Amino acid sequence: MTGRTAVIADLHANLEALTAVIEQITAMDIDRIVCLGDVVGYNANPNECVDLLRNQKAICVAGNHDIAVAEGGNIDFFTNAARQAVVWTRRAITEETRRFLLALPREIQVGPLFLFHGSVHDTDRYIMTRRDAVDNFRMLAGLGSRVRVGLFGHTHQAAALVGEAGTVADVSSPAILGLLPENRYLINPGSVGQPRDGDPRAAFAILDQDAQRATFHRVAYDIRRCRDKILRAGLPTALADRLLIGR
Ligand code: ZN
Repeated sequence: MTGRTAVIADLHANLEALTAVIEQITAMDIDRIVCLGDVVGYNANPNECVDLLRNQKAICVAGNHDIAVAEGGNIDFFTNAARQAVVWTRRAITEETRRFLLALPREIQVGPLFLFHGSVHDTDRYIMTRRDAVDNFRMLAGLGSRVRVGLFGHTHQAAALVGEAGTVADVSSPAILGLLPENRYLINPGSVGQPRDGDPRAAFAILDQDAQRATFHRVAYDIRRCRDKILRAGLPTALADRLLIGR
């Protein structure tokens, strides 16, 4: 596979952030959009975000929030605010949105790219520590020599890990990471709809397989407008406030 891939994750029903990101991506002349899950949850526009993704023909895997909302399973282990948001979202979504979420696969291989939400073969697990990275590089290698880049979300923090040892690269935007054919990579573009790395702007990444590099981007969006919708919807105030500080 060649060309330029836009990578987005953890949209979380934030229509203002997703719209700003898609505007930027569209201006960048890309070949495809891949989405690493958590399309819904936390914020107030689940149906609109699903529609946008569908219009963009994004290649999308399921996140833990998408599964919790669509499958209606046990959410006792979710944080209080996350649980309230799941309950709210279950009521807010259309049947069409539910069917879209329900049909999302847990992982997808697209040429040399492997898309998943949390960890390889586990939607709920985080890649946070060096140990997690080493484990995931091992599982990535187990998928065959063709798979070179694992794309993940779930932590809501942009990250790039290089090689089997999980060396951490700097991804403070704007950052450029050269991709060497002999290395494997684990890349998290950061969160579109609820960043938690201290930068409140929406995050995304571009993977350019012709130029062999990944670039990390941030885009400002109308946080106030998104906050107002969260508050008006009766979702927890903390979910509205955290957007302001990106935590
Ligand atoms: Zn998430």
